[in-house]
Amino acid sequence: MTALLSLSGVTAFYGAIQALKGVELNVNPGEIVTLIGANGAGKSTLMMTICGNPRARDGRIVYDGADITRVPTHEIMRQGIAQSPEGRRIFPRMSVYENLLMGAHGRDGGEAAETMEQVFALFPRLKERTAQRGGTLSGGEQQMLAIGRALMSRPRLLLLDEPSLGLAPLVVRQIFGAIRDLNRSTGLTVLLVEQNAFQALRLAHRGYVLVNGAITMAGAAADLLARPEIRAAYLEGG
Ligand code: ATP
Repeated sequence: MTALLSLSGVTAFYGAIQALKGVELNVNPGEIVTLIGANGAGKSTLMMTICGNPRARDGRIVYDGADITRVPTHEIMRQGIAQSPEGRRIFPRMSVYENLLMGAHGRDGGEAAETMEQVFALFPRLKERTAQRGGTLSGGEQQMLAIGRALMSRPRLLLLDEPSLGLAPLVVRQIFGAIRDLNRSTGLTVLLVEQNAFQALRLAHRGYVLVNGAITMAGAAADLLARPEIRAAYLEGG
């Protein structure tokens, strides 16, 4: 199968600090792939590098058959990659409705309205709160809004950075359930970064383990879940 996204030998730096050290990673169409790793392993950097900020210094990033390694971030987004960044970064003073519209990136009104209905079907809580300011939503609702906003651009590849961060287990299950439903019903391809390795590996088809900026393990999610070294490092108590 031809990968929708493929990284080979990707490095990234913050000044003199090397955050990514020759990353090899593939995401096939229709897959949910998770990238797990400890604090500071470079997970967020990998997501941001795919979007061109920071830029990969070495290596190649190919999306949908085209080399996007040097393509500007806004153009990468236009080609169908959407990111729901860590920390959510919704617009706190804007309403739920306005936040969602910001994600539509100038698509025409009819199409945006249709996509918004799909987002509301996925997260009915948002529909009840269209006029509420983003900043007054609960943590879980803000996460739903951030994912919903990313979906408004009708991406083919959704990059999700730690959607479970700071949320109660029940809310995490709701959000992961929504991602699974979306993947099953629309075939949306998802790259999910998580510290919550147990939940992420149960949701994903495949997984990668990132340690100090390098991939140390990869495989079917069920196989990774069963490996003693993964259990010891990432799943104890999880
Ligand atoms: P976490 O799970 O804590 O979010 P992470 O795996 O996402 O961690 P990154 O945020 O990608 O890790 O950070 C990787 C490394 O790069 C860390 O050592 C971090 O301190 C460093 N780093 C990240 N952002 C910057 C920056 N803007 N300037 C300098 N160093 C940075």
